[in-house]
Amino acid sequence: MQLRYFLPVLATLVGLAGTARADLRVVTTTPSLAAVVHAVGGAHAHVTSLSLPTQDPHFVDARPNLALELSKADLLVLVGLELEVGWLPTLQMASRNSEIQRGAKGYLDASTLVPVLEIATGKVDRAQGDIHPGGNPHYLIDPRRVAKVAAGLAVRMGDLDPSNRQAYAANAKSFLEKLAKWQRHWETVLGPLKGRKVVAYHHSLTYLADWLGFEVVIHLEPKPGIPPNPGHVARVIDLAKKHDVKLMIQESYFPTKTSELVVQKVGAKLALLPGGANFRGGESYLGFIDQCVKRLSAAVQP
Ligand SMILES: [Zn+2]
Repeated sequence: MQLRYFLPVLATLVGLAGTARADLRVVTTTPSLAAVVHAVGGAHAHVTSLSLPTQDPHFVDARPNLALELSKADLLVLVGLELEVGWLPTLQMASRNSEIQRGAKGYLDASTLVPVLEIATGKVDRAQGDIHPGGNPHYLIDPRRVAKVAAGLAVRMGDLDPSNRQAYAANAKSFLEKLAKWQRHWETVLGPLKGRKVVAYHHSLTYLADWLGFEVVIHLEPKPGIPPNPGHVARVIDLAKKHDVKLMIQESYFPTKTSELVVQKVGAKLALLPGGANFRGGESYLGFIDQCVKRLSAAVQP
């Protein structure tokens, strides 16, 4: 075959391979967000997460490979409310990608899509710990808020990739239907949690408590982001006994040693929740919340 005949054949092959390639490259800061983007994007979006479910999303190493990932992204989706403030700006700058900088069309702060709790009022200073003045950023554990994130994602992804706008809308619709069905099931399973008094490690259960109707009486961290100290641990144990607390909840990326001591002293159970969807392992957002519900439900059994 002469070269001039061979070239168009080669171009066709490349073209075919091209159709298998995703239309949008999306990078998220957390794996749970990645799982939601995947539900909306389907085959049209290539999604990666900058952090793992085993990593505390407040502290992620701004490694060069993550900046490289961002350099190729059409869309960056973040949790926002300063959750990633310690590491994401460095990566955005290193990526030299103008499309995903704050204010650009490829920058989506998902917290703008949800009702936010615990917005700070009055003066905010470092002495209050690692606080988030714009509100509590740990909303991805609440399926009601994730429904709003998915709907907003479909709109933004459609704006960035209009040829697949209908597919994103259809995917989001089917995700929302499944989510609503599962939500009713989860609420039934976790009905016994309603009105319960609970100890939490970090201020990360606010939205879960709001959804399921339990009450966090005290946190093991004396202030957000500050590790437990003996004086505060003694206060936690006292208060937990006073309120007859039978359950402590935390994400598995926080240390468990002190928590185990507390539940032993108090006579409570410890529910360890996964830190996010195991997106790389193929877990969906629904699978992630179902895992959380199973762990909680096992820990509330008498
Ligand atoms: Zn936090």
